[in-house]
Parts: sequence; C-alpha cells; structure tokens
Amino acid sequence: MENAKEIIDLLSPLSKKDARMIADAFDFSKKIHDGQKRFSGEPYFNHLYETAKILAELRMSPITVTAGLLHDSLEDANVKEEKIEELFGEEILFLVKGVTKLGKIKYRGVERHNESLRKLFVAVSQDIRVIIIKLADRLHNMKTLQHVPQHKQERIAKETLEIYIPVAYRLGIRKLSRSLEDVSFSFVYPKEYEQTKKILKEKRKEDSGKLEKFQKSIRKGLAKNGVTNFNLDYRVKTLYSLYRKLLRKDWDVEKIYDISALRIILSDVDECYKVLGIIHGIWRPLPGRIKDYIAFPKPNGYQALHTTIFTGYGNVLEVQIKTKKMHQEAEYGVASHIYYKESKKTKIGSNLLWIKRLLPFKKPFDKSSKEKEINYDDIPSWIKELVEYQTLDKNKRALEEDLKEDFFQQRIFVFTPKGDVTDLPIDSTPIDFAYAIHSEIGNRISGVKVNRKMVAINSQLKNGDIVEIITSKSSRPSQKWFEYAKTTTAKKHIKSALQEQKK
Ligand code: MN
Repeated sequence: MENAKEIIDLLSPLSKKDARMIADAFDFSKKIHDGQKRFSGEPYFNHLYETAKILAELRMSPITVTAGLLHDSLEDANVKEEKIEELFGEEILFLVKGVTKLGKIKYRGVERHNESLRKLFVAVSQDIRVIIIKLADRLHNMKTLQHVPQHKQERIAKETLEIYIPVAYRLGIRKLSRSLEDVSFSFVYPKEYEQTKKILKEKRKEDSGKLEKFQKSIRKGLAKNGVTNFNLDYRVKTLYSLYRKLLRKDWDVEKIYDISALRIILSDVDECYKVLGIIHGIWRPLPGRIKDYIAFPKPNGYQALHTTIFTGYGNVLEVQIKTKKMHQEAEYGVASHIYYKESKKTKIGSNLLWIKRLLPFKKPFDKSSKEKEINYDDIPSWIKELVEYQTLDKNKRALEEDLKEDFFQQRIFVFTPKGDVTDLPIDSTPIDFAYAIHSEIGNRISGVKVNRKMVAINSQLKNGDIVEIITSKSSRPSQKWFEYAKTTTAKKHIKSALQEQKK
C-alpha cells in the first residue's frame, strides 16, 4: 500500500513544513479521487502517487512533487481552483492549472510540423516545472498503456515518441526520455521493436564476455597510471535509439559502435583528459570517433569525452569519460537546475518566472556548495529562444502573438473545442479547418464559432483560435466555398462534391 512517507523519504532531508504539505496533498488527493478507477481497474489515486514518485526520484522540489499529487484534481475530480489555492497556495494552483491546460492539447499534425508542435508544447506550458510534471504523468500513463483501449494506444504512444520524448531529450532529462522511449517504441512500431530486440540480444550475447574482460583491463590500466578514484559502469542503448541508428545505417549492426558504452566517471575535468590520454596510450582508438563534448557541448548541454577503441578482444567499444557533475546533468538535465528555493516572494505570472526555473540553484540543504553564478550557457539555446519570446510579453499578450513569426511563419495552429490541434497554412478559413478534420464535416458546414462567437465561414483563422464547426444535414458546398478555401484538401473535396451535385 502506498503511503506519503515513501515520497517524503525520497526527498529527504525535508523541512517539517514541506513534509506536512506533501502528506496533506497525499491525503487530499486520495480522498478526491476515491472511487475512481484507472483502465487497469486500479484505484485512480495510484496514478497520482506514481507520478509524484517519479518527480521525487528526479529530485524535484516539494512544491513540484505536491503539484504532481494534485495534477488531475481540477480536470478529473472537479475540485474548484479556489479550493486548491486555499489549501496549497497560489504557486501549486498555478502548476496544476498549467498541467491541466497542457493536457487538453492533443498533438496531431503533419509529421513535418512536429518540431513546431514541440515548441508549442513548451510555449503553452509557461513554466518548466509544468513540463516536467506532464512528462512524469505521461511516463506513468505509458507504463500502464496496455490497459487503455487499443484504438487509443497508438495515438498516445506516437504522441509520446514524437512530442514528449524529444522535449525530454532537448531538456536534457535523459532519465525521463530513456524510460519513455523504452515503453513507447513497442506500441508504435511493434514489428520493428521485435526486430531490434532480436538484433540487440544477439549482439549483447556476443559482446558480454568481452565487456567484462575489458572492464578488468581498464581498471588495471588506470590503476597502473595512478588513477584509482573513479566509477566504472556501462550503459546499453535503448531499443528505440538503436532502431533509429539502424535506420540510418541500413540495418547493418556492425556499423554501430555504441550499442554498449563504458562510462568512466571521475571527479574533475583535468582527470577526464588524463584518462583519455591513458586509454589512447594502451588501446588504439578508431579514427574519427574521438569527440570532445567537454570543449564543445552538444546543443542540449551534454558534456563528456567519447572515444571508440579496439579492445584487444576482437571488438570495438565506445568509452565515455565524464565528471560526476556532467553525469548528473546528463541524467537530469534542466531538472537538475530547478530545485530552487521556494519563497513567498515568487511572483506568479511574472514573465521571468520561466527563466528563473532554469537557473542553477543552490540546494537548500547542501551547505558545502557555494552559491553558483548564473550560467546561461547551461540552458539549451532553443529554450533561450523561447524564453526570449516569453519575456518579450509585457502586457499579457495573447498566445498567438507570443508565438512569434519565426516558428510559425507558414502555419497556424487551430484547436477543436476538445483541444485537438490542427495545423493549417496562414490565412486558412473555417472551411479549411472543417475539411482538415473530416470531409463529411466539411461538406455539412452550416455555421462556425471561433472562440465561442459566431463568425462568417470565410473569416481568417488565427493562431490559437478554438474553432467549432456547426453542421447540418441539409448543407451543401458551393462555388463560393471553393473560392474561400485555402488548402488543397478542402478544394479537392469541394470540387468533387460540386461535381456530384451537378449529376
Ligand atoms: Mn494524469
């Protein structure tokens, strides 16, 4: 049986007040979701508990973990916003509302616009903690996806692969993106999943003995050169990232050198370069495979030295050399920076809120660490871009203006009242929207509401509009519709409907 103590222990040391808050949220959430069931038949509260646990394992702040326990309270338990604010405060309400809003959008679009959808996802969430709660929520949903009706499984898994995982990856939270990859892949590409699994299994059988022997040689080699203070482990590529690499390499597994990689974790940067030197002195490196991500970090902030060497056991192996801090950040990414001091002074709705969450922060109980300087280099550049958009907004401009031209120059994003998002070319009309949903809806348009107001069917849609198409059986497309339509899909359908009518 789950209990609040398990979550509190994961976060310890915790102040009495914070522990109390988590225990209260635990009890409250359990009460409001009482009687509700998941598709699996389990009590609904399990989902809140597991989501909060994932957040606690990521070492998120007590406020974020508490919001995790409450994240479905508005939507699924019909709790009033005022109630959450009264019991848990403004900041937690802000986070819960953010997660609720983010959950209403379904990311269905043309594949080539996935990048824009990812940016939309990030832009809508306003606060990095909202994204992390949503990712934890999704991880637990994916882990229980087999219980969800089959017709929904594929859409959810695909959305996870194409939107959630890249966002987690770009935020550098490998711990989350890897777990999400493991569970999504089999649902979206079952055949390829099996195929990749088979390849990995064979390859690992072939390599495992060699890997063990090589680990011993490395230990010996480093000790002989005076390096004894290090951690050695190895990681295996996730099936999904192996699959993506196989696609790029024509399914030739022999061309992939980093299926398993050995990790050497050291205490400082100087040692990393020293160890690289020692290794190259003993084992021959493969040319062109030496990467200095310490001097040149990856766009998501990843740092390490990588090299691929001939082990002497008839195989090649990737070796990753990094400091403990780099390793920590590779696993937790942005999440490792946002355990910030939660003070009453935090102004909700301030546009700087977002960037504040990204700033490196001294952990309150870690007395040994010195106050860090704000290091903007730690922040992935595409997030900085978004931050700039967010901070541009001085007067709470509408979302559509926030999402400036750059990203959305060619396309607009329009929502159904249920939150499905459709992307359309600029200047599209409700006619285009209706046909983008379904030709039968297009053919039966009798009226249109945009943002709950009736408008003409040839009005221009804007980014962020919520469009409701009213249909009637007696409606028929006309030549006028053809002229109003902007997309080829709509034009095509209207044309064939007109021809049909002539007959
Ligand atoms: Mn949820």
